[in-house]
Amino acid sequence: MRLTLTHMILIAMLIAILFGSIGNLYFSDTSFVLFSIDLSDAMGRIFLACLQLVVVPLVLVSILNAVINTHAGSSLGVIGFRSIFGYLLTTVFAISIGLLIANIFQPGFGSTLTLDIPTIEVADTPNVIDVVVGFFPTNPFRALLDGNMIQVIILALIFGLAIRSIAVKVDTWIRYIDQGNMIMFEIVDRIIKISPIGVFALIFETFATEGFGIFLPLIDYFLIVILALLIHASVTYSLLLMLFGISPIKYFKNMQEPIFFAFSTASSAATIPVTLKALNEKCGIDRSISSFVIPIGATINMDGTAIMQGVATVFIAQFYGIVLTPDQFLMVILTATLASIGTAAVPGVGLIMLTMVLGQVGLPVEGIGLIIGVDRLLDMLRTAVNVTGDGTVALIVASSEKDLDHGKFHELSSEKNK
Ligand code: ASP
Repeated sequence: MRLTLTHMILIAMLIAILFGSIGNLYFSDTSFVLFSIDLSDAMGRIFLACLQLVVVPLVLVSILNAVINTHAGSSLGVIGFRSIFGYLLTTVFAISIGLLIANIFQPGFGSTLTLDIPTIEVADTPNVIDVVVGFFPTNPFRALLDGNMIQVIILALIFGLAIRSIAVKVDTWIRYIDQGNMIMFEIVDRIIKISPIGVFALIFETFATEGFGIFLPLIDYFLIVILALLIHASVTYSLLLMLFGISPIKYFKNMQEPIFFAFSTASSAATIPVTLKALNEKCGIDRSISSFVIPIGATINMDGTAIMQGVATVFIAQFYGIVLTPDQFLMVILTATLASIGTAAVPGVGLIMLTMVLGQVGLPVEGIGLIIGVDRLLDMLRTAVNVTGDGTVALIVASSEKDLDHGKFHELSSEKNK
């Protein structure tokens, strides 16, 4: 069997989990393991920096390119509306599954955990109007420097439409944008080629530092989040895809690389370049659609994160012996969905969103101290679900726009991995 890049990434992940866990368990204070952790931390951060470096310019030029050059320019409003609707709907499903599973298994009752109270400030729940106004950049350079995805999308739309309407006079700009797009994807290709090393470094560092011992006291909570993540990823997404005549098995196969990247980096935003590449080259989605739908998804769609918030809220309430009312459950769904719109997709942001949810339903925010220890690994898992959700909605939107190349989607994976 020929080893494809996806196989190599998977092998790197497994070896990193094995060596990292053994290092943590048996040799955690040897200078060799300490040095390996420092080295892999540095390598992992450099790898992440390479990915992050390309995100903003890639999103900017691909959307500009899409608006200027393709027919999708005229239907962007519809595409935007459908994707936002799809993202919000899947988030509501996700958090409902989290709440339901947590209520069935009741992880917090009778818990003997002791609180390790960190200093936590409650983040303010975003006000819908402020969130929407905040989408519009006042300074294009600041939007780019801050890497504010929605602002970058709006910036690209405004400039793209202007360039398109005076295309003949600004043909040099159009050529530069097109070539800029090619350069960005070339960089992404090269980063993906070295990704087994980067993925190894990121995962080795996490497992060698955290180890498995940390999960034992919280094993109930941990397994319930994983169960809810699995149900959402395998049932909700599969049903949605099947509803649109798309094979879920093929979809998961085609999305392996972004899913592994999301797991290793714990950042949907840093994974954008890889998601775009997989959707275009393996799933057959036109770039004019994916370059628009995916950055929106990476920002507002966090199904995995919403699931964690549902389970964590029930867990914390039960730990404190508080019985949540139906009103409070609805409030959790609403706040978690709203919070996911306004927050950036970077590692650990789920905990900040959780402070909003707990604050909103009147639960003690210090309860986060109970689950903070296991959050890193759950962050990796839920980011993988976040990215799978981004891709699912992108595929459905592309299919409803008749912009899905079914031939490419169904090609054999081995052919596509060449
Ligand atoms: N790390 C997640 C993401 O980037 C967000 C979170 O759950 O903390 O999608």
